[in-house]
Amino acid sequence: AAKRSGGGWVVYDPDVHGDGEDALRTAEDLRRALVAGELVLHYQPQVRVCDGALTGVEALVRWQHPELGLLPPARFLPVAEDHGLIGQVTGAVLAQAVAQAAAWRRQGLDLRVSVNVSATDLLDTGLARELGALLLGHGVPASRLVLEVTETELVRDTERASQVLAELADLGVATSIDDFGTGWSSLAQLHRMRFSELKLDRSFTQHLLTDPRAAAITASTVDLAHALGLRVVAEGVEDPQTLARLADLQCDESQGYWHAPPMPAGALLGWTSTTREG
Ligand code: C2E
Ligand code: CA
Ligand code: CA
Ligand code: CA
Repeated sequence: AAKRSGGGWVVYDPDVHGDGEDALRTAEDLRRALVAGELVLHYQPQVRVCDGALTGVEALVRWQHPELGLLPPARFLPVAEDHGLIGQVTGAVLAQAVAQAAAWRRQGLDLRVSVNVSATDLLDTGLARELGALLLGHGVPASRLVLEVTETELVRDTERASQVLAELADLGVATSIDDFGTGWSSLAQLHRMRFSELKLDRSFTQHLLTDPRAAAITASTVDLAHALGLRVVAEGVEDPQTLARLADLQCDESQGYWHAPPMPAGALLGWTSTTREG
């Protein structure tokens, strides 16, 4: 027996059959969850390295599952990709993130909001048009939205992805190259596409103090990014010593547990009032 998986036929394998059933159940459950509005966003602060000011947040999706509790993206995004649901997930995430950005603006908080998009989303030629309508509807300037794309994913269909990225740039939406340094064509991606931000992968951040090679790569990456006019955000910053080192290296922004974990939108206002005082 064979079953269809993704776009190709795979030979039946009793060892993976269990997982396949599980994924199928998850996919059906996820379809229901999308309609029921069970996907929620948590937001993690990004702060300016030189003065600690809050400049933006990264929206990170979670599934508030009625029986299983709060599920991390790793538990359901692969299934969403495999079952053609990632576009719907991205749509739901973008709608919530832009609505939240508008709500914060009404409360006097002018934040950049970053959203993760998958490479599959960049093959959707309707993305820029739909996003334009969404931003207009909420009165959020396009420049306040950042789309993060993981660099390893960009290599799949570069032509079409470049086209969609160009349309997003025309719209005024900012783009960020995520997990920078982990792919095998980082420089080619930087050359080919016009990003506004580079996110240094936490595998570098977390070895900054102990590994001179990680420090050298970080220093050069910051210089390279600045030469190209990109802002550099370091991810996975977990201690003040690393933050100080990032300041030495002229890194622009910092994100990680040292500042704050991802949190529900309602908690963010409280967080800003505790950190901005004094
Ligand atoms: P990412 O884009 O690299 O997001 C950063 C991940 O690192 C988040 O995990 C975040 O909670 C975690 N993190 C934050 N600060 C620290 C730190 O100081 N130390 C460590 N060790 N980790 C930290 P999360 O929320 O589980 O997300 C995992 C991945 O799932 C994300 O990695 C992203 O690739 C993907 N993802 C999340 N939300 C979305 C979404 O809405 N759409 C898509 N397509 N992908 C998403
Ligand atoms: Ca990201
Ligand atoms: Ca990342
Ligand atoms: Ca990642």
